[in-house]
Amino acid sequence: MSTPRFTAEELDRLRALAAEWGKIVSKRAFGEDGPGLDVDFRTMEQIATAAAQGLTEGALQQMLQQQAQKVPDESPCPVCGERCPTRTHTRALAAQGATVQQAERIAHCPACRRDFFPPAGDSGVG
Ligand SMILES: [Zn+2]
Repeated sequence: MSTPRFTAEELDRLRALAAEWGKIVSKRAFGEDGPGLDVDFRTMEQIATAAAQGLTEGALQQMLQQQAQKVPDESPCPVCGERCPTRTHTRALAAQGATVQQAERIAHCPACRRDFFPPAGDSGVG
């Protein structure tokens, strides 16, 4: 399975979308009228950074979770080929400015007595 490539334009559009959400963050933090004259740039930056980290965590969490759900309940052992059940396994994953809990599937082959990760793109068919 090939990894889809995103063009610079597509990434720019996503960034523009998130920039619009930044207006919602500002409104949530300071209300309709925005920050008062007593609010310094450092405080604004703290709010923007917290929101950006939350956006990164939420987006990664969603993508990882949906991807994990696509892994089949069974996967062939890479050594003996026996179909083995997979189970959910969670690990912390550090990303740029965020830490997310990655839910992934791991399989165990009783015959080979080893754990293995189902290969990406394995549909479980065939
Ligand atoms: Zn095996």
